[in-house]
Amino acid sequence: MNTLKSGRRMLQLYLAAVIFALSLAMLLEVVLPLHQGATAPLMRWASNLALSALALGATVLASTVALTASQALHIGPSNGLLTSLGTPVAAQWIITFLMLDGTAYALHRVSHHVNWLWRLHSVHHSDLELDATTTHRHHPLENVIAALVSLPVLLILAPPVWAVLAYSLTAVVVSTLSHSSVALPQWLDKILRGLIVTPAFHRTHHSADRVQTDSNYATVFPLFDRLFRSASPVAADKGRTLTIGLETGRDPYSQSLPALLMAPFRRSTSAPAARSDLGQNITR
Ligand SMILES: [Zn+2]
Repeated sequence: MNTLKSGRRMLQLYLAAVIFALSLAMLLEVVLPLHQGATAPLMRWASNLALSALALGATVLASTVALTASQALHIGPSNGLLTSLGTPVAAQWIITFLMLDGTAYALHRVSHHVNWLWRLHSVHHSDLELDATTTHRHHPLENVIAALVSLPVLLILAPPVWAVLAYSLTAVVVSTLSHSSVALPQWLDKILRGLIVTPAFHRTHHSADRVQTDSNYATVFPLFDRLFRSASPVAADKGRTLTIGLETGRDPYSQSLPALLMAPFRRSTSAPAARSDLGQNITR
């Protein structure tokens, strides 16, 4: 299977996983709601889903262009680092998962501290509530950057295609569930977050308190937050009382689709580090 063809197949499976994960998370939000009696925020969902469609379209476009260019330039995985070093297949899979999740962690952390990247990434954080529809609420340019950052890692390592696909599907399911407004039983969330990012763990990252926002960056493995000392305590109430979003841009116009698309080019952003009184009631 050539690179371009397998890339297209992977994108199709990825989009199928997006739909599956969204459906599963929205079902869990009904069965195990974090907020009892919450009403469906239809206008917010419409904005989030429209932005998600643009962002996912940007991912597909950037990935297709990058793969086409790689193939035209005869840059291929035939002599990747993993194969050249004679790495056993099982180790190739583990390295693939760790490298791709580590790259996502690094880009996410840098995006919180480099102003022009934060301008893009803050569109994701500007959502005033957190649920499954927040998962893909990204500025399309942020997705283009994420695709371009992952490409050199893939071309240099040339990991097994199925390992890349397995990581991508795992990441989409875990991140959709971790954004969902679901209250897992305390004991289950605690066990799960020993291995993967859970709703309570990630909700802290969407707190309006910048100290909490600048923590819990991991996509799949919280191991990276623990390793690089960016893990933040998880709220005892699973984040139910946290103020979600940013301190600015909370008015209806700022939350509209046109304003969100233009926000990185208009909004005066900063890298605030001020500690506020938000987000109390925390425990490990
Ligand atoms: Zn973030």
